[in-house]
Amino acid sequence: MATHLTVAAAQPVLATAHSVIHKRVEDWAVAPNLKDYSATRSAFSWAAALKELDGLPDGQGLNIAHEAIDRHACGPLRNHLAIRWIGKRGDVRDYTYGDLQILTNRFANVLKKLGAQKGDRVYVLAGRIPELYIAALGTLKQRCVFCPLFSAFGPQPIKARMTIGGAKLLVTTQCLYERKVRQIRNEVPTLEHVLIIPEEPGAELPPGTEDLTRLMAAAPPEDFNIEPTDPQDVALLHFTSGTTGTPKGAIHVHEAVVAHHITGKLALDFHADDIFWCTADPGWVTGTSYGIIAPLTNGITCIVDEEDFDAERWYRILQDQKVTVWYSAPTAIRMLMKTGKELPAKYDLSSLRFLASVGEPLNPEAVVWSHETYGLPFHDNWWQTETGGIMIANFAAMDVRPGSMGKPLPGIDAAIVQKHKDGSVEEIVEPGVQGEIALRPGWPSMFRGYWQEKERYEKCFAGGFYFTGDLAKRDADGYYWFVGRKDDVIKTSGHLIGPFEVESVLLEHKAVADSAVIGKPDPMAGEIVKAFVLLHEGRQPTDDLRRELMAWARSRLGAAVAPKEIEFVTTLPRTRSGKIMRRLLKNREMGLPEGDTSTLEQS
Ligand code: ATP
Ligand code: MG
Repeated sequence: MATHLTVAAAQPVLATAHSVIHKRVEDWAVAPNLKDYSATRSAFSWAAALKELDGLPDGQGLNIAHEAIDRHACGPLRNHLAIRWIGKRGDVRDYTYGDLQILTNRFANVLKKLGAQKGDRVYVLAGRIPELYIAALGTLKQRCVFCPLFSAFGPQPIKARMTIGGAKLLVTTQCLYERKVRQIRNEVPTLEHVLIIPEEPGAELPPGTEDLTRLMAAAPPEDFNIEPTDPQDVALLHFTSGTTGTPKGAIHVHEAVVAHHITGKLALDFHADDIFWCTADPGWVTGTSYGIIAPLTNGITCIVDEEDFDAERWYRILQDQKVTVWYSAPTAIRMLMKTGKELPAKYDLSSLRFLASVGEPLNPEAVVWSHETYGLPFHDNWWQTETGGIMIANFAAMDVRPGSMGKPLPGIDAAIVQKHKDGSVEEIVEPGVQGEIALRPGWPSMFRGYWQEKERYEKCFAGGFYFTGDLAKRDADGYYWFVGRKDDVIKTSGHLIGPFEVESVLLEHKAVADSAVIGKPDPMAGEIVKAFVLLHEGRQPTDDLRRELMAWARSRLGAAVAPKEIEFVTTLPRTRSGKIMRRLLKNREMGLPEGDTSTLEQS
């Protein structure tokens, strides 16, 4: 395992700041693609990034699927492993770029035969099975819009999303259809075709559905000629996680591939021959942008595991598949931390070179732990469904400041801003001052709208910026530090407190496995800081421990920021993509209705 990182003295920027993890050029096993942040940033242009892709033959535009598959399948990577799929029972299926070309051609031909036209929405409701990946890319070849539905959704969230997007065609498995779609099928009037992946070949399928396997077998595999694709043609419809309210359908276009490709290279440090494992499900934007598109446009090998989280299984996959780049999320990392350092020590993880995380704030504790345990820190990065790709990142060559999200990608103009009541926008330039993260529009994977919600989309823009709804601070060296979502920020006795800082300090206590912090309404203070704390196994929720945690937080955060109330819980409400739903905790606390819970994980 790489042990080339050194830990230096503490870096007192924010209360959550830990030791800096220094990167030294002489220790690079593989030279990072981005070696010098400032130099790469000043030399960068999106026009140059576009040149790294091929474009459709004869100047016919830009199509994600062509960049991800066809250009490799027609070149030296034809026989290179594109996807290694690992089934729940450990069965393995390999797909080269050449195989994927044939299969996605077949799927695109199926769509064509069924009359699916450019711009029609093709939904896929499936677990992480090969057909999902083939359908996604085949859909893009036919210039239809790919819309993934997370397979654990119940009938109502499925219906809501198909209705909003006007689904024309749905691909799903026989089992999911029976359990979740059959009952709502007739309530989605736009839905013309349901293609089923049968449980076993030749199985009798429900009336009104078609057998995808048969259609695929009958479809011509060879040439599928991708029709001219305007880079501005809609390619993807992605629903947000629904952490702060009703999920929104973010629209992305084919041009997004330029950002997917280059951010894979710069932020995830993809190199030829990398074996990359993105643990996210394609039902969420990370699982599509980085679980499908970015690795394939970069011509590397993706690992797809059908099974859900399991610490032993994950370490075995990292070892056996010789994973080099691993992209995961804070919830999973915290679960790995819970299982301890002894388990990974039993596995040979020496192939790992680069670790990254997204989706939620990554507590400094987790970065330090992974550095100690794997010899490599997790590199936090930040982005949203709306941004389509990574916007702020800790790069392989850059020192890591645990608790910081890193710096904006080359080509991304980020700022910390404040919107005043009169509508004017002020850019905050002094370091350490909190404001909203805003981005100057113009990068290729920028969302082009919320499906059927024009006004909601327009409200995101002011003063030439896209407002992200997330609060952060920037330190004197340009590193961004997440504070919280605007909706989650706690206003107590005139202070503004971000839950992340409080949660991070609680997580540093050895009894605490997870925590969520909210503002609880209070007649005197406006709100008081309340923490929900989940303890490690074997720890008892006693009053003594509560007092100890309060004192622990007070000594680190000060009395104004430390929680005034701590409640021990056995679960925290999370979205199915792993984000803590603080709004739910708050509504429960206030005795209010829970609101939209369509993405709530059922424990
Ligand atoms: P909704 O918009 O429906 O409330 P959501 O914002 O959770 O849901 P996503 O687009 O999946 O939906 O998540 C993006 C959000 O996740 C970001 O705006 C941010 O709040 C959070 N996030 C992502 N990465 C990070 C990170 N590295 N650190 C802190 N927060 C992050
Ligand atoms: Mg959001």
